[in-house]
Amino acid sequence: MSNKPTLGIFGFTGCAGCQLALLNCEDQLIDLFEAADIKVFYEAMSNNDDGAEVDIALVEGSINTDKQKEELFHIRKKAKTLVAFGSCASYGCVQAMAYGDGKWEERFRKVYGDVEFAVGKAFEAQPIHKFVKVDATIPGCSPATHQMLTAITKLLNGNLPVYTNAPVCLECKLHENECLLNKGILCLGPLTQGGCTAPCISHNTPCVGCWGIIEEANHSAEIELLIENGYKIEDIIRKFRIFGGSKISEQYTKLWRL
Ligand code: SF4
Ligand code: SF4
Ligand code: SF4
Repeated sequence: MSNKPTLGIFGFTGCAGCQLALLNCEDQLIDLFEAADIKVFYEAMSNNDDGAEVDIALVEGSINTDKQKEELFHIRKKAKTLVAFGSCASYGCVQAMAYGDGKWEERFRKVYGDVEFAVGKAFEAQPIHKFVKVDATIPGCSPATHQMLTAITKLLNGNLPVYTNAPVCLECKLHENECLLNKGILCLGPLTQGGCTAPCISHNTPCVGCWGIIEEANHSAEIELLIENGYKIEDIIRKFRIFGGSKISEQYTKLWRL
């Protein structure tokens, strides 16, 4: 019997890009397969042992059917450490961009009509922490290679990943980028969790917050500053909702009564 830590990599609603990001780590994949006894890896294996107990479960995707909810409960029961893998699992991401606006059923019927789903009753996409205890997250849509591999290495060694408390702006400045806000382009870097190394701004594209909102920022002060500089609160929220899912609607819409 192997004494390696056991790992399960599961996927729910999303584009499966987080699993793909891991598969793309071609130089490190052999090390990963040597370091862990991989019981489940939906995107990479056909002989998945769904019922296996695992030391670590990486769960990608948001939850939006009763069947997924049951499967998630099952994974939680079988996993010692459960990790939200990517922004869909952590915040709901794109499919939860209108979370909490009260119009989900209307949208659902417009697209699907009154069909009965074989996969069980559907509901508004939600992050996995709405249903089960989550021990750690690996942020990003999709997660960055360096951060994801560091996090998985820590998890395989019995530790939880720890991230910077600094926003994307810090990494942006370390890359000596000119601030896009000064050019009149709305960038969410000051309010977004750092760790991605600011690739978008380094390619002259503003941050749209795919790492999720940073917990320790003074959000209202930052937003006031953006408003003072001519940016509209509606545009800030709309942009943040693209990836921020339920977290934005719960934190920001209450804060700004939108
Ligand atoms: S977080 Fe992004 S990359 Fe990962 S499954 Fe969701 S949409 Fe795809
Ligand atoms: S461009 Fe964006 S991330 Fe960079 S310093 Fe300005 S606001 Fe921050
Ligand atoms: S700069 Fe912003 S949008 Fe780009 S990867 Fe980082 S968090 Fe995501």
